[in-house]
Amino acid sequence: MIAKLKADCSLADKAAIIRHIEGQGLRVHVGDSGENPVVSIIGNPTAMLADELQRFAGVESVSLDAPSYPLVSLGSRPGPSVVKVGSVFIGGAPIVVMAGPCSVESAEQLEEVSIGVAAGGAVMLRGGAFKPRTSPYSFQGMGEDGLKLLRDAGDRTGLGVVSECVAPEDVALMADYVDMLQIGARNMQNFRLLSAVGEQPRPVLLKRGLMSTIDEFLLAAEYIMAAGNPRVVMCERGIRSFDTSTRSTLDISAVPVLKERTHLPVIVDPSHAAGRRSLVPSLALAGVAAGADGLLIEVHNNPEVALSDGPQSLTIDGFKETMDTVSQVATAIGRSVAKLSPPAILPPLAEGVPPIADRRGGWADPTNAV
Ligand code: PEP
Ligand code: MN
Repeated sequence: MIAKLKADCSLADKAAIIRHIEGQGLRVHVGDSGENPVVSIIGNPTAMLADELQRFAGVESVSLDAPSYPLVSLGSRPGPSVVKVGSVFIGGAPIVVMAGPCSVESAEQLEEVSIGVAAGGAVMLRGGAFKPRTSPYSFQGMGEDGLKLLRDAGDRTGLGVVSECVAPEDVALMADYVDMLQIGARNMQNFRLLSAVGEQPRPVLLKRGLMSTIDEFLLAAEYIMAAGNPRVVMCERGIRSFDTSTRSTLDISAVPVLKERTHLPVIVDPSHAAGRRSLVPSLALAGVAAGADGLLIEVHNNPEVALSDGPQSLTIDGFKETMDTVSQVATAIGRSVAKLSPPAILPPLAEGVPPIADRRGGWADPTNAV
């Protein structure tokens, strides 16, 4: 439920409205959306509350059919939000590319890949230290030793580090080493894990579940925000469909659909959707063309011997070639590819090129980053 307040609603009236809602055991989020402040009611408000709110002097209207994800919803903010990960800004005009191996395997592997992806134009290093594998007999990751290697590679190259967290009890450990915590597709509805990453300050990369609707995906993000962490980035990584010609089916329409519903940045993972190296560049380009704010790409120095997801991993050279075309598509739609050093001011849109998505008055301002 959302209560739209009158533009001239006094502070005393606003406080009375909030007191009334909180008095019913509900939480509120006051958004500064446009002229009229919007009060989102978090919890399970009754229809009776809607009637009561209508009678407050400062209330203009009450909407019962507002999204069930008030914090994540586009309506709760004046525009798209920018999430700051170390010195990287996700959600502005520059497209953020995160790249690296599926699993951290050794110091040598990570050294070669991190230098390669940094040279190729990535601004963040990805790598799994705790791997959620379908089979219990598959490589499960290097654990904390892998996190140490990631931190070291991140510090030496300047790349931000993102790695997957698979259990609530690992959150504090992961947050000591990485700049961003990834929640994998298989854990998108692990609600205790979502709350646990929501209770700490590191930004969270939330991947869409293999069988999840967009509403479920948005509600998973709401769990993280409701626990107190506003730094959430959504990642479309393909869903399971009847077609087995790709590992998953990249739901490209999820990008503009999410942009219609949430202020949170959206990125695309072409690697897990494709499952095959040869398809990754096309899906990466499609993601950028559809309006994604970033890409998550698996890259390995020697994919033939990778301990996980070798067939879908780009070689370092393949990554560099892909980045050249990603950069061309970004330019064609008035965007750019983020560079390693943090830009003080985001580059303006290229002249004469309209943005493809409705940005409601331009690209998000990084000074408002969360
Ligand atoms: C990964 O990023 O390596 C991964 C396991 O991805 P997903 O959760 O999307 O399958
Ligand atoms: Mn993988």
